[in-house]
Amino acid sequence: MSDYSFDTLQIHAGAEPDPATGARQVPIYQTTAYVFKDADHAARLFNLQEVGYIYSRLTNPTVAALANRVAALEGGAGAVCCSSGHAAQIMALFPLMGPGCNIIASTRLYGGTITQFSQTIKRFGWSAKFVDFDDLAALEAAVDDNTRAIFCESISNPGGYITDLPAVAKVADKVGLPLIVDNTLATPYLCRPIEHGATLVVHSLTKYMTGNGTVTGGAIVDSGKFDWSASGKFPSLSDPEPAYHGLKFHEALGPMAFTFHSIAVGLRDLGMTMNPQGAHYTLMGIETLSLRMERHIQNARAVAEWLERDPRVEFVTYAGLPSSPWHGRVATVCPKGAGALFTVGVKGGYEACVKLVDNLKLFSHVANLGDTRSLIIHSASTTHRQLTPEQQVAAGAAPNVVRLSIGTEDARDIIADLDQALTKATA
Ligand SMILES: *Cc1c(COP(=O)(O)O)cnc(C)c1O
Repeated sequence: MSDYSFDTLQIHAGAEPDPATGARQVPIYQTTAYVFKDADHAARLFNLQEVGYIYSRLTNPTVAALANRVAALEGGAGAVCCSSGHAAQIMALFPLMGPGCNIIASTRLYGGTITQFSQTIKRFGWSAKFVDFDDLAALEAAVDDNTRAIFCESISNPGGYITDLPAVAKVADKVGLPLIVDNTLATPYLCRPIEHGATLVVHSLTKYMTGNGTVTGGAIVDSGKFDWSASGKFPSLSDPEPAYHGLKFHEALGPMAFTFHSIAVGLRDLGMTMNPQGAHYTLMGIETLSLRMERHIQNARAVAEWLERDPRVEFVTYAGLPSSPWHGRVATVCPKGAGALFTVGVKGGYEACVKLVDNLKLFSHVANLGDTRSLIIHSASTTHRQLTPEQQVAAGAAPNVVRLSIGTEDARDIIADLDQALTKATA
């Protein structure tokens, strides 16, 4: 299957016709449990001696089809789906971390991720150090004996910043730590972080992967390439697991160690499970991922170019524009395009931004992105509200900035809507 090209894999990977009924589409296995053939079969499943379905908190055939499809599209060894993008981040860190451990995270992240990393993970005894990932020396210098991972986004929300993934992966490799890349905004159609050296890829499936604003979901893809036993820093994967009959996941399962640990310990005990209905909707969405992304990119480019020429606009951060400082990275990191999310500085500051948002008719004012519909949000008063003014500016969400998620409508209608609302906002 992995020999097929992306457009074929997005339709076929992870799913055969249903073995029970021949159903061509992946059925929604709306079941909590699965009948064991006999007591011996049950024991073998619980011992991980045989792979099969036990209970849907751990695995479910519909969710498994989605996980295998996402793994195929990212070029990973295995993947696990979970209940949201934020759950995926906790699930990715869980096998790597312990009390006193830290991660090095980029300053340019989704606002909710900055809050999760700077506040909430402290309750687990974990911490994050935020560094400008364009300063590779600072990134390397921030690593200490308790650092367990390096975390960034391929294309970052909300500023359209593109991380120099090959350079960051080189640092991660040098210090012997896994690189975790949130690939939500790029999707594997635009960027495949594992090819640039990422160890783990996390997703909010809520966004472009589903693509129509119907599902909350997440995924963690493992490259299968990291040596979890080499440094002694990852005992959950290298040492006997007391909560799993003393199993040594890395020794026993090799490149599938992280994936099996995420199911057998992560989902079992954290319970951040994706539901089969949600997995079904996401599978439907992924079938058209490349087609949608092509249109998203085409429209984003047209809208960004129009906005950049408009005198009512101060700046446009789209990396697809030659004026962007990150434009040079598009060719290496995401050669098919720089995504469809960017921010716009509006003349007239906070007041004008609020008026713009209130006067748009086609755009929806929502805290979401990656929908077929065009969406707008004023980050400073919403998603990035919990941050300090300095953090807002560092994250590209200053008060005079609105974030646009360009949909797949006709670009002329999107531009006309922005035109009329900008007139009212800056009158
Ligand atoms: C939305 C988003 C998340 C969080 O995902 P949820 O599914 O909302 O939990 C994480 N990272 C990025 C880049 C996002 O856009």
